[in-house]
Amino acid sequence: MQIYANNPNHKTWLEVEENSDFPIQNIPFGIAKVGDKPPFVATRIGDAVINLYALAKMTAFDSLPFDVETLNRDNLNDLIAEGKGITLGIRDLVSQLFNIQNPVIRDNPFLQMGILHEAKDVTMLLPVKIGDYTDFYSSREHATNVGMMFRDPKNALLPNWLHIPVGYHGRSSSILVSGTNIIRPKGQTLPKEGEPPVFGASARLDFELEMAFIVGKNTQLGDSIKANEAENYIFGLTLFNDWSARDIQQWEYVPLGPFLGKNFASTMSPWVVMIEALDGARVAQPTQEPQPLPYLQTTGDKNYNIALEVDIVPENGAATTVCKSNFQYMYWSMSQQLAHHTVNGCNVRIGDVCASGTISGKDENSYGSMLELAWKGTKPLKMADGTERKFINDNDTVTMRGWATTQEGIRIGFGEAVGKVLPATDL
Ligand code: MN
Repeated sequence: MQIYANNPNHKTWLEVEENSDFPIQNIPFGIAKVGDKPPFVATRIGDAVINLYALAKMTAFDSLPFDVETLNRDNLNDLIAEGKGITLGIRDLVSQLFNIQNPVIRDNPFLQMGILHEAKDVTMLLPVKIGDYTDFYSSREHATNVGMMFRDPKNALLPNWLHIPVGYHGRSSSILVSGTNIIRPKGQTLPKEGEPPVFGASARLDFELEMAFIVGKNTQLGDSIKANEAENYIFGLTLFNDWSARDIQQWEYVPLGPFLGKNFASTMSPWVVMIEALDGARVAQPTQEPQPLPYLQTTGDKNYNIALEVDIVPENGAATTVCKSNFQYMYWSMSQQLAHHTVNGCNVRIGDVCASGTISGKDENSYGSMLELAWKGTKPLKMADGTERKFINDNDTVTMRGWATTQEGIRIGFGEAVGKVLPATDL
C-alpha cells in the first residue's frame, strides 16, 4: 500500500528535533485542550500540536466528504466512524500543508496563531470513548515466565496457549490518559499460605508493558473478522500500562481469571498512531509451531518493529530504565487476536480497546513487568538513586515509551504513557 503521508523523503517547515517521535511521516490523532477552551481533534508534528478543527474551518479538508464537526469533539470515535478513506485523507492533507515547500501556512503567521500550539501548553485527553476493553496474553515469554513462577516450571505454558490467543474482558471505566495519578489499590491478599487472607493496600503493585489497538470499524453480532482482513478493523495503536496488583491477582484469579488485581487502573498514551503509519515497520512474527487453526492463519508480515522502554522515576530521584523490549516479540499478532475475538460472532465497536498483554522478550532486561524483572521479588532491581525495587513504591512514576522504526529508518513514535503512584487512601 502506497500512502502519500508515509513518504520518507518528506520534510516539514515546522521544527522537528532529531529523534522526535513525531516526524511529518507520523501524523497521529489525539484530543487536545488549551486552557478552558473546548477540546478538539489534534495531530502533532515535532512539538507542534495542530488543531485539526481549526484547519477544517479554514477549508483545509473541503476536498474530503465528511462532517468536519467530528473534529470538534472530546473523543475520536465520530471521526474514526467516518472511515479510513477520511482519516487517511486528513493525514495526507496535513502532510501536504506542513510540507517544507508549501507556503500557505508557512508564510502566514496569522493563520499559524489559530492552528498551532506548543505541546507544553496543551492538555491531552483520553483519545477515545472506550466501550469495551479486552486484554490479551500474547507474549510467549511472559506467559512462560508467569507460568514458571505461579504454577509448574516444567509445564509453564498451559496446553491451550499455543492454539488460542488467550484473553479476558477487562474494564474500560478505569482506563486513564497518560499523566493521571494512580491510587495504590486495596484488597484481599493471602500473605501466608495456609493462613486466612488479610485486607490492606497492595504490597505488590506492578506495571505491565503493553500496547493497545483501537477498533476502527463496527461489526454486527454473528460477524467474524477474517485474520487477513483484521487490520482494516484496527484504527491505530497506543502505549498501554496495564497496572496490576500481583498479590490481589494471585489470591483471586482461580478459577475465573483477573478481576480486582487489574481493573483499578490502566494508563494509555494520548496519541493514536494509525496502523497505516506503521506500514514500513512490518516484521514477521515468531514461528508458530504447532500451526494455528485456519481461521488464525495470515499471510504477509503482521507484526511491527516497535521498540519499547520502561523507566521508574522515584520521587526526587533520577530515572532508571528497567526494561527494553519490542512489540515484535508478540507470538500472536493483533490480526490473530481480532480474528479470534470475533470468531464466535462477538461484535466489536469503534473505540473498543484491545491490549496485547505484557510484552516480554527473551533477555532478562526485556521482561515487561516487575514480577518478571525482579523474579517475584527474589532479584530486586537497583535504581539509579541507590534504592532497590521489587515492585512499584508509593510516589514512583512509571514512564513507558515506544517508537517504531521503518525500513527507511523513519521513527514513528508514540510519545509516553506516564503514571505516578499515590499511597492507598482510607485504609
Ligand atoms: Mn495485562
